[in-house]
Amino acid sequence: MAMPCSEPDLKPAQKEDRIDVFWHEGMLEHDTGRGVFDTGMDPGFLDVLENHPENSDRVKNMVSILKRGPISPFISWHQGRPALISELLSFHTQEYINELIEADEKQGKTICAGTFLNPRSWYAALLAAGSTISAMKHVLDGHGKIAYALVRPPGHHAQPSRADGYCFLNNAGLAVQSALTSGLDSVAVIDIDVHYGNGTAEGFYRSDKVLTVSLHMNHGSWGPSHPQNGAVDELGEGEGFGYNLNIPLPNGSGDSGYACAMTELVVPAVEKFEPKIMVLVIGQDSSAFDPNGRQCLTMEGYRKIGQIVREMADKHSKGRLVIVQEGGYHVTYSAYCLHATLEGVLNFPAPLLSDPIAYYPEDDSFATRAVESIKKYQRGIVPFFK
Ligand SMILES: [Zn+2]
Repeated sequence: MAMPCSEPDLKPAQKEDRIDVFWHEGMLEHDTGRGVFDTGMDPGFLDVLENHPENSDRVKNMVSILKRGPISPFISWHQGRPALISELLSFHTQEYINELIEADEKQGKTICAGTFLNPRSWYAALLAAGSTISAMKHVLDGHGKIAYALVRPPGHHAQPSRADGYCFLNNAGLAVQSALTSGLDSVAVIDIDVHYGNGTAEGFYRSDKVLTVSLHMNHGSWGPSHPQNGAVDELGEGEGFGYNLNIPLPNGSGDSGYACAMTELVVPAVEKFEPKIMVLVIGQDSSAFDPNGRQCLTMEGYRKIGQIVREMADKHSKGRLVIVQEGGYHVTYSAYCLHATLEGVLNFPAPLLSDPIAYYPEDDSFATRAVESIKKYQRGIVPFFK
């Protein structure tokens, strides 16, 4: 039932509001293959092998819902472009980039578990990075207030010298670097993908110019490509101490758990930090129906997060907000949750699109307790809270 609510109010809070989307079809050419979920393996005894979760279908639906969904009049489309190698070196090491180029020349290989660089994957990765940098520059140059990089392969697990979790190049990290290079001295990154934004955190771990905040399920380290735990005590180092805030949330945290974490933990930190630009890193894999996460957000929860982030951007960053796409693997619901997030960002007074499938009852007591204990911990140790 792809139906808008009965009487949608088709006006965002501010009439002139729109979202500038950066997209390039070439990103669909990254073929992650088929197998048992994300392993690329055919055990030989299954008649039906599924697409790798990070497949092009999920992004095709994100494109089409923004082109033909009720939010479409408020979307303006911009052509993405490949990143230059010199741009990549602002976040990644030369050795690592050489390794990826070599893998591409050899027609691809498995870079780490579940992460396949196949023919055309490198081209797609360059497009994802370049399009995200373009989205940032668009906002920095004053051509728009809100830009969304609709990109794949995702990027937030990619560390300066390491691929991880379907990610090769850290799209958001590269965009943040371009903001720093342009002279900005404070950027806040809020990551709501269900997994820890370890790559972005690692890239800015020693910097007090970038506040990285990640809300994620408590999945811990998942092997050599992802040594970080995403725990509360990974706070940054040196000048960057206190500028990486991890918010690991219990499974099933849901809409009210996330709203509580945003209000109690994210808003006060951003308030103290006063960023000149905000970056919202989104993954719909924190939804109730995602094969890769157990956080149980619905469209309503994403809408609320979008509203809260918009409010922070208006208050601190003159409304300047760059949104970067990460995970989100339910082919239908990810598109719906994206739509809801952007509705929230545009501050529509009522939902434009109703939720076709959400029904889980919520128990927010675990999440509320976790948020309280994280808050207590941070207040005791993070210098800017003291
Ligand atoms: Zn994810």
